[in-house]
Amino acid sequence: MTENEIRGSFINCSKGEAKRLNLPRDLDSRRWEDLDFLGWRDPMAHERAYLVVERGDGPVGVAFRLTGADNGSRRALCSVCVTSRQGPGVALMVAPRVGKAGREGNTVGLHMCTDFACSLYVRGLKQPEPGGRFAETLTVDEKIKRLEENLHGFLDRLTK
Ligand SMILES: [Zn+2]
Repeated sequence: MTENEIRGSFINCSKGEAKRLNLPRDLDSRRWEDLDFLGWRDPMAHERAYLVVERGDGPVGVAFRLTGADNGSRRALCSVCVTSRQGPGVALMVAPRVGKAGREGNTVGLHMCTDFACSLYVRGLKQPEPGGRFAETLTVDEKIKRLEENLHGFLDRLTK
């Protein structure tokens, strides 16, 4: 994905915001073949995060704010990759709804890995903290499919 494609994909922030937001610095070195989506924290403003998902009709970008809630040492489940993470590994991210509802302050929340490495966790390419993965009987392909369904379900809620 090019910078212009990414900036042009955002559905829940203004064109001006999409133009100004800070892209990940490691865009060229990402392992694209192992990624179901592109996610990153704003390197200049850490409470902002972004997600770009490839859908049938092109990439869809979502702007989030991370809530300040700190889990401490508690475990929390990522609702995208279904990995149980310790403390700050998962955070509640809040995205304005698309269109008028969002401008009126309506949001949709998503508990998600703050390192956005969900694609790598389901493929076993990155290990979470000990105890983070359940023994599941799903194959990697099934886990990838579930991840995509979770993400697309979230996007549907956002645009509804
Ligand atoms: Zn995750």
